[in-house]
Amino acid sequence: MNSFRSPCKELIAEKARSLGIEKTGVAAVMPVSSGAVEMYDRWIASGRHGEMAYLERYGEVRANPSLLLPSARSIICCAVNYFPSRKQCPDAPQIASYALGCDYHDVVREKLEALAAFIRENFGGETRVCVDTAPVRERYWAVQSGLGFVGKNNQLIIPGKGSYFFLGEIIATHEIEPDEPCRLSCGDCGACLRVCPSGALMPDGGIDARRCLSYLTIEYRGDLPPGVPLGNRLYGCDSCQAACPHNRHASATNVEEFAPSERLLNLSCEAIENMSQQEFSALFRHSAIKRTKLSGLQRNAMYIRRAQKGSLPEDAPHDARSRLR
Ligand code: SF4
Ligand code: SF4
Repeated sequence: MNSFRSPCKELIAEKARSLGIEKTGVAAVMPVSSGAVEMYDRWIASGRHGEMAYLERYGEVRANPSLLLPSARSIICCAVNYFPSRKQCPDAPQIASYALGCDYHDVVREKLEALAAFIRENFGGETRVCVDTAPVRERYWAVQSGLGFVGKNNQLIIPGKGSYFFLGEIIATHEIEPDEPCRLSCGDCGACLRVCPSGALMPDGGIDARRCLSYLTIEYRGDLPPGVPLGNRLYGCDSCQAACPHNRHASATNVEEFAPSERLLNLSCEAIENMSQQEFSALFRHSAIKRTKLSGLQRNAMYIRRAQKGSLPEDAPHDARSRLR
């Protein structure tokens, strides 16, 4: 049985801001709504998650966060800005904004662990930090906690701030007054659907990961199917975020660790193709890019170069859909 004082939300939010967590919201722990569970299950059944088999597992836990921490009462959802202060030259092999700095798994976890420690020290109780490390429906809980809404580009959009944010959660045994869920939506806008080079975004709001260039350049392990409209995307894809009007006034992060690495800004396909394993490990030791492994990055770089030489088709918006299966 826990015995703790009820924590003060404003104190937690203030501490979070001092740690570089730009926004927090609180949701009461309860099972995920049956509608949201069914939607997720249908998405998995359709195979649109591609080869990300880990998304098929732990369905029970994903639908009920209290299984991650007995006696959990609240989820504190946290958003950390990663919008880079500098961009790559448009001709360079493009790296998604989130990966230009240090690996968010380490940076965001450190911030959330510090916030969790603050909560325990001041209010007792128990906490569990999740940063992509547990089966948590993070966008669902971000909506429930009032942080923002899920756009047609499948990103969490924070009103007035945009979507260039990492999300993380602190599950806590403290009973904290929950925030109102966010009820906003995209309305009639469909800019992200129109700009998506591969038609991965579904008109019903879902995503077909098998067509998504972010999935194909990062998660997918085989040869890239012919006709993938990769353009010069080396790692990930920001197109549906860049097109979103909510990101028009995105302000650069002040989290030092997310400042773009000079070497990544200036990376070339040639350098990647000639890179040794030792060089790859040293360059990407603190970067999320290590996830693709050297072989994945070289595959992407080769694909870009072949497309540039004209032996592969250039961006072919939407008409490449059928070839991406
Ligand atoms: S990340 Fe790129 S490919 Fe994937 S849905 Fe967004 S625009 Fe389309
Ligand atoms: S571009 Fe428009 S439709 Fe797409 S997520 Fe942003 S607001 Fe929503």
